[in-house]
Amino acid sequence: MFYKYVIVGAGLAGLTMAERIANELNEKVLIIEKRNHIGGNVYDSYNEDGILIHNYGPHIFHTNDQGVYDYLSKFTKWNDFWHRVLSYVDGNLVPMPITVETINKLYNLNLDCSEVEDFLKKQAVEIADIKTSKDVALSKVGKDIYEKIFESYTRKQWGIDPSELDTSVISRIPIRLNRDTRYFADRYQGMPAHGYAKLCENMVTNKNIKIMLNTDYQEIMKDITYDTLIYTGSTDEYYQYKHGRLSYRSVNFIFETYDTEKFQEAPVVNYPNDYDYTRITEYKQLTWQQHKKTTIGKEFPCAEGEPYYPFPTKDCKAQFALYEEEMKKEEKVIFLGRLAEYRYYNMDAVVRRALDTFNQMINVNR
Ligand SMILES: Cc1cc2nc3c(=O)[nH]c(=O)nc-3n(C[C@H](O)[C@H](O)[C@H](O)COP(=O)(O)OP(=O)(O)OC[C@H]3O[C@@H](n4cnc5c(N)ncnc54)[C@H](O)[C@@H]3O)c2cc1C
Repeated sequence: MFYKYVIVGAGLAGLTMAERIANELNEKVLIIEKRNHIGGNVYDSYNEDGILIHNYGPHIFHTNDQGVYDYLSKFTKWNDFWHRVLSYVDGNLVPMPITVETINKLYNLNLDCSEVEDFLKKQAVEIADIKTSKDVALSKVGKDIYEKIFESYTRKQWGIDPSELDTSVISRIPIRLNRDTRYFADRYQGMPAHGYAKLCENMVTNKNIKIMLNTDYQEIMKDITYDTLIYTGSTDEYYQYKHGRLSYRSVNFIFETYDTEKFQEAPVVNYPNDYDYTRITEYKQLTWQQHKKTTIGKEFPCAEGEPYYPFPTKDCKAQFALYEEEMKKEEKVIFLGRLAEYRYYNMDAVVRRALDTFNQMINVNR
């Protein structure tokens, strides 16, 4: 079978490329997806009680990228949604990320914004050469807050101590010297009004796009020829693991439904120090669905399972660099997305990456 364009993976990266090729170039494109649905990890569905859940963990859209927001808005309307997260520490629920409210609640104080700045400066540990996530946290908030909020959570999430993780993990978490308790500060935040699965379906309505579900590329690759392959699966799998398996952290999602309208005080509550799970999401608080019951998702990070988060250590990056050398030699294959590029992308970033790749590598070669 020949297709000029073949895409492996129907996540946001693959779907964006397919949409652009079909609509902008008016070319035929084949998408091969091993799961039984499109959408990749942003997929959502109704459970047996009729409650909309995110099958692969809570997804909140947020961006400062006007182009990405406008692009996705062609396929969905948005519910305005300001995400909020609470963290259960010492028997209290405190806002995350750290804000003035968090410090006041943690220490039973009533400081204003500049007093909190002074408070944190006094707590902060001076570290000349910041190399790890532990260094980042200690240098920003000091030992006590590090232990209360970051240390155990990070260890649960990654299975190793923050002192073994590179700076990127904790650097991503902002510390706000104001009272803004929204989880994200981006200009555009929202949830697709009819869910992510519907958004994804709307991206690929063009008849030029053919989708093969339940099909692993590895099993049919010998039967398919193409001019360009856009590969959004795992790079180590593509190269038959010749430089070894890349490490990922996985998560086991356990969903529970309760005969009550509301389960918790915020859409997401983190449990840094108690229990084996890292956080609980109450889906109705994300989707605004009205229902007499409610479904929550508990997240148990684990080593085995679906590859979710590339491991942020020097050794893992060095191992991926070996694959990158192979990738550079490919003339007909474009590696795109969080698995193929072995890096964590938010939804907006992966769509931006796909739009730019289309413009720079496909639209120019016509
Ligand atoms: C728990 C969790 C929570 C997240 N929350 C947020 C959030 O709140 N906000 C946000 O912006 N981002 C969030 N993200 C990130 C978001 O999920 C990603 O940005 C997005 O899914 C990346 O899209 P992708 O197409 O690169 O990868 P994926 O969605 O993983 O798609 C890749 C697809 O390729 C398929 N595939 C792989 N190998 C093969 C093969 N051999 N043959 C056929 N098909 C194959 C897979 O089945 C998959 O469907 C979260 C991620 C996780 C893990």
